[in-house]
Amino acid sequence: MHSPNDSKSLVARWRATPLYIRIIVAVALGVATGLALGAQAHVLETPAKLVLRLLGAVAPPLILLAIVQALMRAHLGGRQALRLVTLLLTNTLVAILIGLAVVNVLRPGRWTTAAPGAAPAKAAAAFDPLSQLLDSVPRSLVGPFSDNGAVMGVIFIAVAFGIALRGFKTHEVRTVEDLVHVALSSLIVILHWIIDVVPIAVFGLVASIVGVKGFGDFIALGGFFIAVLTALALQFLYYALRIRLGSWARPLDVVAGVRDALLMAFSTGSSTATMPLTYELLRDKVGLREQSASMGALVGSNFNNDGTALYEAMSALFVAQLLGLDLTLGQQFMVVLTSVLASVGAAGIPEAGLVTMTMVFRAVALPTDYIALLLTIDWLLDRCRTAINVMGDVTVSCLLDGKVREG
Ligand code: ASP
Repeated sequence: MHSPNDSKSLVARWRATPLYIRIIVAVALGVATGLALGAQAHVLETPAKLVLRLLGAVAPPLILLAIVQALMRAHLGGRQALRLVTLLLTNTLVAILIGLAVVNVLRPGRWTTAAPGAAPAKAAAAFDPLSQLLDSVPRSLVGPFSDNGAVMGVIFIAVAFGIALRGFKTHEVRTVEDLVHVALSSLIVILHWIIDVVPIAVFGLVASIVGVKGFGDFIALGGFFIAVLTALALQFLYYALRIRLGSWARPLDVVAGVRDALLMAFSTGSSTATMPLTYELLRDKVGLREQSASMGALVGSNFNNDGTALYEAMSALFVAQLLGLDLTLGQQFMVVLTSVLASVGAAGIPEAGLVTMTMVFRAVALPTDYIALLLTIDWLLDRCRTAINVMGDVTVSCLLDGKVREG
């Protein structure tokens, strides 16, 4: 017999296991199940669809609140601020262009052996008994309030926020800043719940893809993985060059100085959690002025996610390649534009880039279903792009510090 305590400890154990281990186990089980069930495994893709729909629903308010909070908290002023904005924008654009160039050259989306467009989603186009459940899950947080009769959606949102806000019950809200903080924090709590079920989604999705299409898409995914790492490495070299040319600090000394912050970014997947350490190392180990370190690592870090921008643009192009679509120049421009915005709106927490990516996909009418495919490798790429996000903050700080060392 199972007692409630048993199930509680099961949930606790599930949550205590690092996400990447849960995902690796999910991938392995998914492959085995897909091989065993064959085409029948297509019904298992439902959890992945559910997770994506939820991610898509929390993305717009998450971006909105993250930007509002960052702007409210930033102490900006004068010429330094203008220089900061210019640096952030150029670095992000360079990141996206590197990403697009690499994905255009390597074309990982064409590495698949499956026919383009033979999506697992389409294989399940026939009657799906679970679609009823799927339909009651809101696609956006405001949708249910405007659609007549979407009572289920409203209840869904009420339950989620009711539970999430229990943790903030006694939190004092005296200023508008407090209000935004509580709203953003409760959304992040909800996001963590969604991320908790990602391994289940990964399991179902992998089983369904392997069962229906075989391993073709995973070969392409491997190509995409290599492409993203290549692009991130190039972006790293770009940073080193910028530091060498635009600041008194030496790139190798800078990297050695902030090594711990880069490691922390990689191990936590959160540039925000790393922020205080980045700042401290820039001051103590690299020797930057207080103002440059705080502008780049504390203020800039809220807006500056070059690794995320690069990743989102590459993902859109990769999926387009996978589907055999050629994005027009106008669409590629939209990808660049929305990737910049989505990266600004990505909070510096694990997997935030995956959430805001839904916006990039929607802007160019790419099916967001395919983001599910990326769930299988995102845990690792997230860590790598977080390290690059932090390196971006470090670079901006060094450039703001100029060519003459303090004192
Ligand atoms: N995890 C990243 C960060 O904290 C954001 C992302 O998911 O791209 O910087």
